[in-house]
Amino acid sequence: MSARNQSLSPIDRASHLRTDAAALNLLWNSAQIVPIIAGHIGANDGELRFLTHESVEFLSASFESGERYFLGLARDGGQPYFAWRTSWINEPTDEAVKFEGFKTLREVGGDLSEFDLTLAMHAVGLSNWHDSHPQCSRCGENTVSDLGGSVRVCVSDSSQHHPRTDPAVIVLVKDSDDRILLGHQPIWPEKRFSTFAGFVEPGESFEECVSREVFEEAGVYCNDIKYLTSQAWPFPASIMIAFEAVTDHPETAKPDGFEITEVEWFSREEMKVAVASGQLLLPPSISVARKMITGWYTSKSGYTASDLFGGESWRP
Ligand SMILES: [Zn+2]
Repeated sequence: MSARNQSLSPIDRASHLRTDAAALNLLWNSAQIVPIIAGHIGANDGELRFLTHESVEFLSASFESGERYFLGLARDGGQPYFAWRTSWINEPTDEAVKFEGFKTLREVGGDLSEFDLTLAMHAVGLSNWHDSHPQCSRCGENTVSDLGGSVRVCVSDSSQHHPRTDPAVIVLVKDSDDRILLGHQPIWPEKRFSTFAGFVEPGESFEECVSREVFEEAGVYCNDIKYLTSQAWPFPASIMIAFEAVTDHPETAKPDGFEITEVEWFSREEMKVAVASGQLLLPPSISVARKMITGWYTSKSGYTASDLFGGESWRP
């Protein structure tokens, strides 16, 4: 599977620096800054667009003053990285026009290097959380970012609020003939099929969630649930925990009719033909679903990832 499964991120989050405001101010002056403008991110030719602190100041006429969040230091060389979350003040000015064309991470993420994708996932996930937590959940007063953006603090009762990540399982369902079951959601483009996924509910283990979601969405009971990998998925605040599972009753598969409107079993040969003829659009390469499907497909000799072309786009 992907290099994102490396256990050591290329960015050291250096959390000991979050309490040192003076050190963070110094680091800001030499930082590469990832601008998140109204939830959008900039990338050209597969590389993130960074700002310096001077360019952030230069742009202050066009953008809200924004908030800065410390992302960490490059493990190789120590370069500091920050995110800067802001939005337009008015219509874009001439200086700001070059920032038009900023896109969602869903749109650009598939082209980024592992290093830039790691930075972008952190920057976007953190910005999404700050963006949606302007008020204290205890008393309703405003909150402000603190500790390098790792918390928000209520201006009235000083309570601290920490960024949250919502766990969701994603499941590659197989049968005893080593076929896989994929489903279609009505909000997706026609002919797109992917693996099954759903949010973990309170009081539920990952395995219980896998069993429940697969049965609810696709009508099959599964066993032999095995953990595969995980992937940050800040759209807006998830982590995908990926499993494979096996069903002994593939013939019972049927869509729930709401979240999933079609289900289909694929052997490798059937998948190859369906992709080649345009009858099957796979999920985008950035997604763990695609990596799971590719991992299964290529685990038998004679089947290569290049057979599974296409599917690079995603709804914005
Ligand atoms: Zn409060």
